Amino acid sequence: MSQLINGLHHITALGGHPQTNVDFYSKTLGLRLVKKTINFDATDVYHLYYGDETGQPGTIMTFFPYPGIQRGRIGTGQVIITSFSIPNDSIDYWARRLEEHKVSFQSPSRRGDETVLPLEDPDGLLLELVAGENDQRKGWGGGEVPEEHAIRGFFGVTICVVNPKATQHLLTNTMEYSVVSDKPGRIRLQASNGSPGSIVDLACPPNAQRGLSGGGTIHHVAFSTDSDETQRQIREKLVDAGMQVTQVLDRQYFHSIYFREPGGVLFEVATNPPGFIKDEEVADLGTALKLPPWEEKNRKSIEQNLIPIR
Ligand code: ZN
Repeated sequence: MSQLINGLHHITALGGHPQTNVDFYSKTLGLRLVKKTINFDATDVYHLYYGDETGQPGTIMTFFPYPGIQRGRIGTGQVIITSFSIPNDSIDYWARRLEEHKVSFQSPSRRGDETVLPLEDPDGLLLELVAGENDQRKGWGGGEVPEEHAIRGFFGVTICVVNPKATQHLLTNTMEYSVVSDKPGRIRLQASNGSPGSIVDLACPPNAQRGLSGGGTIHHVAFSTDSDETQRQIREKLVDAGMQVTQVLDRQYFHSIYFREPGGVLFEVATNPPGFIKDEEVADLGTALKLPPWEEKNRKSIEQNLIPIR
């Protein structure tokens, strides 16, 4: 049977003011804003997508930015850390850059074979820059960060759940993940193809409380699948494993199914096609407000309700 899950597709978080969000992710972190659209389920809120040049699966960080949103609480039942992969020689560059941009960060430290630089975005979302993976992906050098230091995409996610064995079981028995290491306090899993951007760590900070949704928290994590057909197959396997999986939803740039894994984290499986060049040329990605066809008739009022961003 062909492989059904390739690794991570995108990660979606709740943010605060959209301009602060764009400034941080596209300027400070140097990701490319590849799509400016709306939350299809709440059309007065943006949906902003950042990634590499074309927004390939495994590079896409997305936000629903709500100005003035109440902060959530990072804790159990959530993706608690989003980790980005950077080149091995770029840790010093990034520490300097974060300091210059007055970003809240901690000194880099070693964790196994990797060097980790923990930081927070302006809404308190926990991020890491991780150097140490053999990652040949090319980062986007078209922004303020030169290509030699650019973020290449995700390294992985850290998920905190009360019973990690149940989440591990779903990932290994149904979602084609394998355990890479099992140390006290941290189980590391990776997609079976071992591709960059597919790590899932199951780990919690000491005394973690129940996570509460709100600003600065992750809403869901999406895994990548090749096609509508592989999505149909993985959906069947998830249903057989007892998951309550939604029908396929058209997200314009991918097709999605959603379910809650046993620890309460919202998982999505998203198709790689059609991707972000569906409705914009590569050179123009992220420059215009794109609406799904069924909302075009409401464009005027939608535009009036959104905060302009640069
Ligand atoms: Zn999603």
